[in-house]
Amino acid sequence: MKTPAPDQFESLNLPPEQLKNLSDLGYQTMTDIQRLALPSILEGKDVIGQSKTGSGKTAAFGLGVLNSINPRFHGVQTLILCPTRELADQVANDLRTLARVIPNVKILTLCGGTPLAPQRASLEYGAHIVVGTPGRIEDHLSRNNLDLSQAKTFVLDEADRMLDMGFQPAIEAIINHLPKSRQTLLFSATFPDSIESMTRRIMSNPLTVKVESSH
Ligand code: ADP
Ligand code: MG
Repeated sequence: MKTPAPDQFESLNLPPEQLKNLSDLGYQTMTDIQRLALPSILEGKDVIGQSKTGSGKTAAFGLGVLNSINPRFHGVQTLILCPTRELADQVANDLRTLARVIPNVKILTLCGGTPLAPQRASLEYGAHIVVGTPGRIEDHLSRNNLDLSQAKTFVLDEADRMLDMGFQPAIEAIINHLPKSRQTLLFSATFPDSIESMTRRIMSNPLTVKVESSH
């Protein structure tokens, strides 16, 4: 069998159903951030990814997250933080598209601006992946609505925007509810000092991937 080129999804250790799904989605080759970050993400390493908007960061962490989910275990296995409801909805929808070849993966969004009670009911029903904004996630944690003690992966998407919006205290509070032994993935378009210092505190020996060019 021919060895796939390093920008082919086939070069990754993904299930054949997911490779077909990606091809059905029109994803022919990996973007630079996917090619550079995905092998380490799939190995369970901590990864810091910096690349511009539109470069395919969601699938970079999404394929990693989905590959480590056990649908038979009922509990939150991944927490993804996003700065806004719109971005959380977008990430959750993209993840659902990638998850359609993995039966029974439940993805729940938890954002502010809507009542807490229905979200609490959804949490009782169960979810494997929670995507939300830091304030609302912290709120559910403080009310004991959300158990992150079994989480394996923690993703910070658009970390620079979350810090700009003043979410650092909420993020720090959330981290106290996550197991110390976990995979942490952080994506950001820019890297101010505040992010550098945060990564040093919350990540373990991370690989940094920076994509300067287009794509
Ligand atoms: P970012 O988070 O870096 O801003 P997104 O993850 O939202 O970017 O991706 C931008 C667009 O590119 C989305 O429409 C997504 O479906 C598409 N995309 C992602 N990866 C690929 C790929 N490998 N091939 C083709 N399109 C892709
Ligand atoms: Mg994005």
